[in-house]
Amino acid sequence: MKKPTITVIGSINMDLVTIAKRMPVQGETVLGEAFRLIPGGKGANQAVAAARLGADVHMIGAVGADMFGTELLQHLEKEGIVVDGVKPVTDVETGIATIVISEGDNRIIVVPGANHALCPDDLERWEEKIATSDVCLLQLEIPLPVVEQAVLIAKRHGVRVILNPAPAQPLPDTLLDQVDILTPNEHERDVVLAGRPMEKWAHKLIVTEGKRGVSFQRNGEWTLIPSFHVPVVDTTGAGDTFNGALAVALSKGMALEEACCYANAAAALSVTKLGAQTGMPTEKELESFLS
Ligand code: ADP
Repeated sequence: MKKPTITVIGSINMDLVTIAKRMPVQGETVLGEAFRLIPGGKGANQAVAAARLGADVHMIGAVGADMFGTELLQHLEKEGIVVDGVKPVTDVETGIATIVISEGDNRIIVVPGANHALCPDDLERWEEKIATSDVCLLQLEIPLPVVEQAVLIAKRHGVRVILNPAPAQPLPDTLLDQVDILTPNEHERDVVLAGRPMEKWAHKLIVTEGKRGVSFQRNGEWTLIPSFHVPVVDTTGAGDTFNGALAVALSKGMALEEACCYANAAAALSVTKLGAQTGMPTEKELESFLS
């Protein structure tokens, strides 16, 4: 059987994670417990999820000409992802997220950096790659005009587009009209469609609802595909795993309901381990979980 071919156009970040006993107050310095550098960014996370599940993944994005950029590219390559579509940028740093975790609370600052240096024209070189993909997978951590251009190219060639509208922002009607599938969580659904008739795009929605599972419309009725019960360690990256797995399942020709079940299972496995990418299952692990 032909391997699923997926183009992911999105963010590549290094997460700088600091764990401390308590948050410092303004002007205070506290000693931290631990520090970790963890590859992240919704685009990269979803690319890794799809690659682990056996897809040929082509990543389009941008990183800075710095230590993090080099490391993140090596990391993606180790996961078997083709990175020639990742643009090196010299005048801005690789995207980062500074995350401070303390007493079950977290504070996060994201600096998009190179991710925001990606421009619509960068995609023209990769038109052939996009055109020959089964699915083009997008999120909103890159400039909206790039997302719009990607959708335009993909639809020009009849390629299925999944847009994970995260982080949430209101989207133009034209974009909502063009994408095939939208995968918001409940909060993102409310922001993306705020003040607009949801019925118009309801047939494209697959709404992730955390431990409840996912909902979509079948013959005009909302249907819940329940999640799998697992011991939860860390839900970071559950949505990213879901999206990567959904792209793989649909590329393999599964119908929507079966694809949602497959993606629910992948996302459930991902929450049983710490970190966004650590718990993302391989094809084998997912198959044995489902058998
Ligand atoms: P996001 O991480 O984007 O906020 P959700 O929290 O809705 O997204 O989670 C995405 C998917 O991950 C869910 O639809 C479900 O399949 C799976 N998932 C999330 N939390 C759990 C959980 N506690 N147990 C099992 N599966 C989960």
